[in-house]
Formats: sequence, C-alpha cells, structure tokens
Amino acid sequence: MNTKSTINYQEIAKELNGIETTTNSDRLTKLSLDYYHFSPILTEQLQNKRGELAAFPTTEAEVLKIALICVKYKIPLTVRGAGTGNYGQCIPLEGGIILDTSKMNQIQWLKPGIACVQPGVKMAAFDKQARKIGWELRIAPSTYRTATIGGFIGGGSVGMGSVNYGQISDRGNLRRVRLVTLEETPQVLELEGDRVQKVLHAYGTTGIITELEIPLAPAYPWQEIIVTFDDFMTAASFGQALSDSHGIVKKLVSIHASPIPSYFPALKNYIPQGKHCALLMVSEYDITPFQDLVQEYQGEITYSKTAAEAAKGTSLLEFTWNHTTLHARSVDNKLTYLQTFYFTLERLEKLYQQRGDEIMIHLEFLRAGDKAVPAGLQLIRFTTGERLNEIIRDRESQGAFIANPHVYTIEDGGNKQVDPQKVAFKQQVDPYGLLNPGKMRGFRE
Ligand SMILES: Cc1cc2nc3c(=O)[nH]c(=O)nc-3n(C[C@H](O)[C@H](O)[C@H](O)COP(=O)(O)OP(=O)(O)OC[C@H]3O[C@@H](n4cnc5c(N)ncnc54)[C@H](O)[C@@H]3O)c2cc1C
Repeated sequence: MNTKSTINYQEIAKELNGIETTTNSDRLTKLSLDYYHFSPILTEQLQNKRGELAAFPTTEAEVLKIALICVKYKIPLTVRGAGTGNYGQCIPLEGGIILDTSKMNQIQWLKPGIACVQPGVKMAAFDKQARKIGWELRIAPSTYRTATIGGFIGGGSVGMGSVNYGQISDRGNLRRVRLVTLEETPQVLELEGDRVQKVLHAYGTTGIITELEIPLAPAYPWQEIIVTFDDFMTAASFGQALSDSHGIVKKLVSIHASPIPSYFPALKNYIPQGKHCALLMVSEYDITPFQDLVQEYQGEITYSKTAAEAAKGTSLLEFTWNHTTLHARSVDNKLTYLQTFYFTLERLEKLYQQRGDEIMIHLEFLRAGDKAVPAGLQLIRFTTGERLNEIIRDRESQGAFIANPHVYTIEDGGNKQVDPQKVAFKQQVDPYGLLNPGKMRGFRE
C-alpha cells in the first residue's frame, strides 16, 4: 500500500477526469468523520484519521475507474454512505481515497415486494416512493432520514421493523448485490442468496456495492404511541407481549427505564418524571386490540398520533435505537452505551436489579429466529475503559450478548470471531488490502 508522501492527489484528481472529486481540506475533514464520538475509546483512537481525496461517482463505470486507479497506485479506498455509522466504520485509517456514494442515488426499479437501488439512495426517500405502491423497507435504523441503503447493508444491523424481520443479516433480507472488486483488473461481481453474506456488515472491506436488490414489507399507516408505566418490568413484559401478539401489526417496540425519558425534553409533557415508557409504532387498523393489551398491563396511553399527524413532526423513531444515546449525550456527554441482547425477561430482570447508578436500561424488541427477544442499547456512565470492559465481561458471564461499539474492527464488535468466508472472499476481491484497511482483523492476521 502506498503512503501519503508518495502520492500526488492533484494528479490523481486529473486522472479521475470526468468524476467529481475534492481535495478541499475542510470537506475532507467532514468526510472523514462518522459518529464514533459516541465512544470515548474510539474517539481517542480515530480522531485525526483523514482521507486525502474524495470522489463522488454517479455510475458503476465511474466506480470501476476509481477502483482501477486505486489498484494502479496501491491507494487505500474507503466507501462512505451518509457517514452515520457509530463504530468508526467509514473512518479512513490509512488515508487515501474516500468514495462517497451520495450521487449514486437512483431507484433502478420498484415492484410490489421488491426493489433494486443504487447504494446511495436514502432510506426515507426510498420509502416515500415505495409507499405509493403500498410497500416500504423491511428494516431501517433510527437514522432513516439520512442513512443510505448501501451504508445500512455495509455497516448497520437492526432498526424499526426488526421486531418483524430481525437483522439485515437474516436470510432473505438482502436478495442480490452487484459490487466492484479491487483485483489487479477490477471487475463487477454479482452475489445472490447466502453469498450476499460476504458483503453484509463487512464495512466495505469486501467490495464496493454498486447495486442492491432488497425485499420490501407491506406498508401500513403507523400510529405513533407513548405508553407510560409505574414499574419497569411491567413495561418490559408489555413490550414482550406486544411483540408476541401476531394479531397486532407493529413496527417499533422500544422500552425506556426511568430516568432515560428525562433526556427527551421534547416528550416531557407525555412522560411524567419517574415513569417508565414504551415508544411504539402500531398499525392504525389495530388500535382497539392494542388498547386492550395496554389495559391488561395497566399502562397509560399519553400520546397517540395517526401516521398523517406524526408525519408533520419528529417521529418517535428518533428517540429510539441509538437516537436514545444521542439525546442522552446531548444532556450529559459522559454517557456512552453498550448494545446488549438479554434474550429473556428473566435475565433482563436480574441485570436490571444490578444496574446501580452506572447503567440505564433501554430495550428494543427484535425477532431472533422464531421469537421476539429483548435487546437494546443500555446507557453507561463512562468512567474508564477498564470499568467498561468489566461491565461487558460481567454481563456476558450472565448470558447476555454484547455487540461492543467501542472497537472498530468487524470481528471485535458484534461478530466476535473471524469469519473465514469473509476473509477468503476479501483475499479474492481485494488482494492488496486496499479496501477500508485495518477494519477486518482476520485479513490482517
Ligand atoms: C443516532 C444514531 C442512531 C443509529 N441507529 C441505528 C439503528 O437503529 N440501527 C443500526 O443498525 N444502526 C444505527 N446507527 C448506525 C448507522 O446510522 C446505520 O447503520 C446506518 O444505516 C449507516 O448508514 P450510512 O449511509 O450512514 O453508512 P456509513 O456510515 O456511511 O457506512 C457504514 C459502513 O458501510 C460501508 N459502506 C457504505 N456504502 C457502501 C457501499 N456502497 N459498498 C460497500 N460498503 C459500503 C462503509 O464503508 C462503512 O463501513 C445509528 C447511528 C447513530 C449516530
């Protein structure tokens, strides 16, 4: 791989003639950031990492041209969607070229149940079109308004809709991808079926995705609702019951233990101090059975907006998933988070009892295999890295699974192990290790 000193990026920009590029220092600084600053540990490790040229291709042919130049001069290449990842996924550790996909934003075709898109299509913009024919994305992160579909496949995992469809890596949630390789002679490959796993959550280390075929979900008018509870475990049990109620169509089941709601000033009129709450999206057609369930769990509905009303303001989605951390950190920037799977209410209850002042529990229900399970992003009052690791070890020893968001390699976060299939595929498509170098530990080793 080439180093900064030996490459003249002005000359590279000339060779990329016809493709929009920039070497403007301020723009490069912005394009070299994502949301890793949610982690004090990543902040220390990743600040000051910077790309040296950004390119904005619009077509697959232009991506191929950039790939050719990277191979010719052995320049590192890091793909970037909207840059909302929170594991430092698109931080260019070795500098080089940032390939920004924001101009590859065409919906190629859209049919009931399935669509084909370029990677830079923004998720909310896509849904606006898909809803015209009665469909929408199956799963989307809380950064839905800004995140790209390619970035979600490359660096995301779960979100609204996961209570029905699980994680993006679950079989069937991505049908086909086209990608550009960084072989001696870069080429275009297509992967279908289980083979798409090679690029799923691979942080752009195994090819540049240029097209994706994604299955869709039937679109409903989603009522946005807040229910409050006196007791946290009752709120959590309600969340489980709603997630398990197949007769009630829903898309978001997000439960917040007090004092987390106090970090949502915009919702303060709906969540009295000391109460625990559920932030929900339920089909407008299923409100009556939903109300019966709320009554069974002695909850109180304090906020209820039809889809049309909700569309006029901030969606409750933007208080859930990792937006909860965002709001909490805007009040107290010493807070950080851990992505945690509890799997059962029994385990959750045990860990809730042990939380002390250091941990606040926030749940998101999602489908894992044949059942809905409590997972979520617990908030942690950060003191030291050692203490954070101690909390992780303690939770894991009690059977919880932690996808650690304080590390930047694919393996050390959620995957926990080297995936030999992904490593072998990388050796084939990126033999010089130019794609997002440093992010796949298995390749480096
Ligand atoms: C407040 C907040 C809330 C969040 N909530 C969620 C959530 O609910 N669920 C969730 O899963 N994540 C969440 N995230 C993380 C992130 O927003 C999502 O994963 C989002 O989908 C990433 O999309 P992006 O376009 O910003 O991707 P980027 O951050 O730009 O990229 C993500 C990764 O994908 C790679 N990539 C991008 N495009 C391509 C391509 N064309 N080919 C190959 N690789 C590519 C990049 O190299 C990078 O490694 C959250 C983050 C924040 C800050």
